[in-house]
Amino acid sequence: MSNQNLLNRSLQSVWHPCTQMKQHEAYPLIPIQRGEGVWLYDVAGNQYLDAVSSWWVNLFGHNNPRIKDAIKQQLDTLEHVMLAGFTHEPVVALSEKLAQLTGLGHAFYASDGASATEIALKMSFHYWRNSGKSNKTKFISLQNSYHGETLGALGVTDVAIFKDTYAPLLMQSAQMPSPDFRLAEAGESAESFALRCAEQLEHYVSQHHHELAAFIIEPLVQCAAGMGMYHPVYLRRAREICQQYQVHLIADEIAVGFGRTGTLFACEQTNVRPDFICLSKGITGGYLPLSVVLTTDEVYAAFYDDSVAKGFLHSHSYTGNPLACSAALATLAIFETENVLEKNRAKAAYLTTKMQAFTHLPIEHLRYQGMITAFDVKSESVHFSRDCYAAALKNGLLIRPIGNTVYFMPPYTISESEIDFMLDAALKSVQLAI
Ligand SMILES: *Cc1c(COP(=O)(O)O)cnc(C)c1O
Repeated sequence: MSNQNLLNRSLQSVWHPCTQMKQHEAYPLIPIQRGEGVWLYDVAGNQYLDAVSSWWVNLFGHNNPRIKDAIKQQLDTLEHVMLAGFTHEPVVALSEKLAQLTGLGHAFYASDGASATEIALKMSFHYWRNSGKSNKTKFISLQNSYHGETLGALGVTDVAIFKDTYAPLLMQSAQMPSPDFRLAEAGESAESFALRCAEQLEHYVSQHHHELAAFIIEPLVQCAAGMGMYHPVYLRRAREICQQYQVHLIADEIAVGFGRTGTLFACEQTNVRPDFICLSKGITGGYLPLSVVLTTDEVYAAFYDDSVAKGFLHSHSYTGNPLACSAALATLAIFETENVLEKNRAKAAYLTTKMQAFTHLPIEHLRYQGMITAFDVKSESVHFSRDCYAAALKNGLLIRPIGNTVYFMPPYTISESEIDFMLDAALKSVQLAI
């Protein structure tokens, strides 16, 4: 059978990400043939509602006509040209747009989130070096933070399962107490917990600022930690503390950017302007790999010099790829013309009322932030995550619980009846897996 054949060929030749490959002896791969809207179709014709936006990248559904057309047009014009010494319309137009949206006027491109983290860390360090403060070489991040898995990014990531094995290879960084309100004490409000964590941040920074280059943070939601959400006051305090002690603030909006938290960028909710923003994932609507680091005039100016070595010499072959930039421009055009954020508010409100169906289950910390919904299941089973994932697939739903956290992060094009389907299938699957 051709289906079985494809699965065997994949297992023979493809090393799949974030996977213990031996588990595929018991849990077969799903061979996907095509996508349409929120749906993925396998080669046998089964369909799955993509409730995780294919690892948080898809914004406006699969086979989106506007993004597809933009890429096709660009394909007929220019597929790629090196960006050192050359430039092109899509990369300029995208940089101008992102500058206008974030207030950060200088865009440096790569192709994936981890590389954006690397670039922001290198730029921050190099800024201080160019400014005569070469002792500022260290970075801090939050407990349970996730900033990607290349060695530099893993150095500021704090997820044991990804990090511990490689510990001997990693640069040292310190982790600040996470304001994730699941960690608050009983009776403590999210806000006072966030303020308490910010005090601990301030204490650390006040002691170590002379050696600190930057604090990197996921604004509002620590997604890979299991959608850990926190009060925005933390972000505001972090900005003030970093300002006071001359430490850069790097906002990693790779997952939360482009509308996931209800605003285009999560930082907008606190009027915080970071020194660097890292963007990727949704930037192309989930079509092509692209990431970008945006920064201030001040940072840019510190590199602008007659000395070549003071320049930021980081290079990446596909920097500013025109096809990816055209997909990003089409994605931003959809935000501009289709009232996306407002429509999302209505969808999130609908989803919130429908979540009542889950409240009779043994769950806790039911939480919402824009188009992200999550709850933690009180299950004794050590295989909850795996069993829930497998049960959901049988019910026509793609969810990937993180430990005991079940979450929904669907494409924004999801309809009310598709939300009903998603929640219904999830409810059945959670009940089976508990
Ligand atoms: C996914 C993610 C990254 C890494 O992006 P990749 O493209 O997978 O390298 C970094 N930071 C955050 C917050 C992420 O969610």
